[in-house]
Amino acid sequence: MDQVVADYIVLLGPPGAGKGTQAQIVARTLGLPHISSGDIFRENLQNQTPLGQQAKVFMERGELVPDEITIAMIRERLLRPDCAQGALLDGFPRTPPQAKALEQMLAELGGRILVVPFISVAEQVLIERLSGRWTCRAQGHVYHEKFNPPKQSGVCDVDGSELYQREDDKAETVANRIRVYFAQTAPLIDYYRQAGLLVEIDGAQPIEKVTADLLEAIRARQ
Ligand code: ADP
Ligand code: AMP
Repeated sequence: MDQVVADYIVLLGPPGAGKGTQAQIVARTLGLPHISSGDIFRENLQNQTPLGQQAKVFMERGELVPDEITIAMIRERLLRPDCAQGALLDGFPRTPPQAKALEQMLAELGGRILVVPFISVAEQVLIERLSGRWTCRAQGHVYHEKFNPPKQSGVCDVDGSELYQREDDKAETVANRIRVYFAQTAPLIDYYRQAGLLVEIDGAQPIEKVTADLLEAIRARQ
């Protein structure tokens, strides 16, 4: 009998590229859990857990939370039963050591990375997107005041919760997050390209077109 291999998808791209927006749609379409490291950190921050307290200062500055903390958190999440058949990773890995750690975790889980869609968007567009982003308090659903507005201003279409502007979406912090992305995360583009896993997706297109391209890239590998 063939061994069943669980497929994990890694969404790569700068802050504001549309990873969260796409992950929510694609995860639902494919029936995969959506694992967003940023959402998990924000939840811990909100609940004032020890992990949230450790992450707080880095997140406020727009810096990465140290690898050791981030890897332990994702490891705990991926070992839960709902990820046994695969998952859609959004925002992890973000450094080469995180990428190596993911490979080790997947080897333990009997899984593999199926594909790494890289959602690419020009830098000027990122700033406009992040400065108009509104996020849902309850589950992190994402809107944009111009490009993807909610039906009712300030209220999430999906769960009716309050929408807020993330503290790290203010201009100074955004600039730092983009710098951090180029310095620490962008090397993963070549890393996954060399591994034959990278597929570049044009993230400047309308949301539905980006979704269609992503689903096509994923299905082509299944
Ligand atoms: P990321 O998770 O990569 O940081 P998000 O999914 O939160 O990015 O998207 C950032 C902002 O851009 C949000 O306000 C979202 O509504 C908006 N957005 C996402 N995709 C698009 C798109 N294809 N066109 C225009 N705006 C978009
Ligand atoms: P995001 O929601 O993906 O924009 O992430 C928000 C913030 O959470 C980042 O600016 C980091 O401070 C932290 N964070 C999220 N994912 C990671 C990661 N993989 N490694 C380190 N820090 C992370």
